[in-house]
Amino acid sequence: MQSTMTANETDADISENFPLFGKLQDYEHEQIVVCSEPSLGLKAIIAVHDTTLGPALGGVRMWPYNNEQEAIRDVLRLSRGMTYKAAISGLNLGGGKAVIIGDPRKEKNESLFRAFGRYVDSLGGRYITAEDVGINVQNMEWVRMETKYVSGLPKSIGGSGDPSPVTAYGVYQGMKASAKKAYGSDSLEGKRIAIQGAGHVSSHLAKFLSKEDAELFICDIYEDKVNAVAEETGAKVVDPDEIYGLDVDIFSPCALGGVVNDDTMDQFKCDIIAGAANNVLDNEDKHGRMLLDNDILYAPDYVINAGGLINVASELEGYNEERAHKQASKIYDTILDILNYSEDNNTPTFVASNILAEKRIANVGQIHNIYTSDSKFSGHIGELYKNNV
Ligand code: NAD
Repeated sequence: MQSTMTANETDADISENFPLFGKLQDYEHEQIVVCSEPSLGLKAIIAVHDTTLGPALGGVRMWPYNNEQEAIRDVLRLSRGMTYKAAISGLNLGGGKAVIIGDPRKEKNESLFRAFGRYVDSLGGRYITAEDVGINVQNMEWVRMETKYVSGLPKSIGGSGDPSPVTAYGVYQGMKASAKKAYGSDSLEGKRIAIQGAGHVSSHLAKFLSKEDAELFICDIYEDKVNAVAEETGAKVVDPDEIYGLDVDIFSPCALGGVVNDDTMDQFKCDIIAGAANNVLDNEDKHGRMLLDNDILYAPDYVINAGGLINVASELEGYNEERAHKQASKIYDTILDILNYSEDNNTPTFVASNILAEKRIANVGQIHNIYTSDSKFSGHIGELYKNNV
């Protein structure tokens, strides 16, 4: 196709006339794929943020976005987050994400997901998809009919199944590392720990903690859920509104995002915040700095909850639960490195984490300058695709 760019046009002109390029450049994305099949109602966007470390892996989300801009913003932000998460977790994966614009309660059908699967396949493994908000196992099975670049499938069809147990194990390890930094010992015996949420991850986490004889407090908005976890682990049930201000050593957010905010900040009496929830800091810059100033150790969410991604990544090499747990146990060292960097540089922990993730990407990027006989991709993950399995 002939370029329509005139001799005098510059990158700035392109950005001005077509804001998408400006956004891509701001977030440093490699590629964005707009997928449209009007006859099937498919409107999807795949964002590949960075493939320095390997193929971009990240879930597909289905959401009734109010407009296209909202969808683009979400997919760009989420895919970038995946790059950092994979990098800091030591995975040979890049960051990607996809969104399907639509109401997951009304607009799902086989052909829509198979059409999406074809777009994923057309990227030849640059992007590997998985389940995210609004998507269920059956939807992923439809996608899998059209592409092998899918992960996070149920155990019944050879996948890794529910990631929550591995996520919980990673959170447990990250919590122990935080205790080591704060108290000089990683034992959680006798530590008072408040868990927000009694869902998939926290029910497993509470079991690890109760085995270590921690004193647990737990809340949920559903009485039956919180009672079930309390019965199994001996945790004390507390009111959801009380959880922030409890006199505890560790607060573990395992329910919602944004729980460290202007309203809760002054309530915390804990030394450590370490939990599974995504986007714990309402405002990363502001609240990350406030936690540092208030001497509260914060284990960055995307690092401590990476067990889920580790589990899904492990599926790409033929799932092995023991190996996934072993890899998730490395979250201990990663969190410790981040906390040490944060202390040495007087910088909030999430900034420290971003810096260390960027360093790994830059360093591994350098090895691509060295010619090898098979220079395409030589990490573990990816072998599967080269061999066309
Ligand atoms: P879940 O839905 O099973 O559990 C969340 C629980 O929080 C539910 O029981 C819900 O009732 C409760 N809850 C909601 N609002 C609450 C409130 N105001 N106060 C107290 N409890 C409340 O979800 P999950 O899979 O356990 O995930 C928990 C968090 O961890 C989420 O933020 C999720 O994004 C994140 N995460 C999960 C995984 C995973 O492997 N499941 C991986 C990475 C991150």
